[in-house]
Amino acid sequence: MSQPLIVPIGEKVKLADFDPSYKGKYKRKRDVQGKLRKTINKIIELQELLYSDSNNSLLIVLQAMDAGGKDGTIKHVMGAVNPQGCDVKNFKAPSVEEAAHDFLWRYHFAAPRKGKIVIFNRSYYEDVLVVRVHNLVQKTVWSKRYNQINNFEKMLVENGTTILKFYLHISKDEQKKRFEDRLNRTNKHWKFSDADLRERQYWDQYMEAFEVVLSKCNTKVAPWHIVPANNKWYRDLVIGKAIVKALEGLDMKYPEPERDFSDIEIKD
Ligand code: AMP
Ligand code: MG
Repeated sequence: MSQPLIVPIGEKVKLADFDPSYKGKYKRKRDVQGKLRKTINKIIELQELLYSDSNNSLLIVLQAMDAGGKDGTIKHVMGAVNPQGCDVKNFKAPSVEEAAHDFLWRYHFAAPRKGKIVIFNRSYYEDVLVVRVHNLVQKTVWSKRYNQINNFEKMLVENGTTILKFYLHISKDEQKKRFEDRLNRTNKHWKFSDADLRERQYWDQYMEAFEVVLSKCNTKVAPWHIVPANNKWYRDLVIGKAIVKALEGLDMKYPEPERDFSDIEIKD
């Protein structure tokens, strides 16, 4: 059975209905390697067009449970893109300065200028995920944020930013496997923390918080992609193709040259 990547606006998402191991018509990594390479080359080409045209920008939002594959996606899908045209912003718990502003302040500041791609590795959605699960602010405060986020995204879109939101959907078993893998390899220990184990105990609460996000903040201007992410190769292909589709949908062209260069001869 095929599984939708984007659900209809207004529909209540139940994550149990989404198979994190779904891989479409493909069986194994080998089946998609050529396609993935072509997709990445297309992204490289389109990024150059985005940069030279400089009328649009692209914001990519990545959200997932710990070990969900946010870092891997950035490395494998965007790793070959010209670093001059693409920034990655990682968001942790807010600093004292950040916390003294409205919750969207730091994200707005980091949003892409025209011609650029910015990837948010975690985002303002944490302010209704970790914040909701742990009651870091009062319910009266976080419950208003879904609407505030929708309005913020609408404003960005109306000002020339395309927003692509990806929820990397992994199973609790897959998270266990990935944590164990990190623990078994000393060069991966830096990626593991006690906090990961602590947060794992809240798995069900996080799933519930994600379901609310994926339902309430799934809008026409900025829909959520629910990416089956147990298979890293399938995840990369799905995200890569969505990026190509979004960039191809923009009305972009290389700028006109300053004048007709056809009479120029470069002397020896
Ligand atoms: P990592 O991405 O593994 O470096 O972890 C970043 C940590 O920062 C995670 O535990 C997040 O839950 C936490 N974090 C990110 N954004 C927020 C936020 N807005 N409020 C509180 N904690 C956050
Ligand atoms: Mg982590």
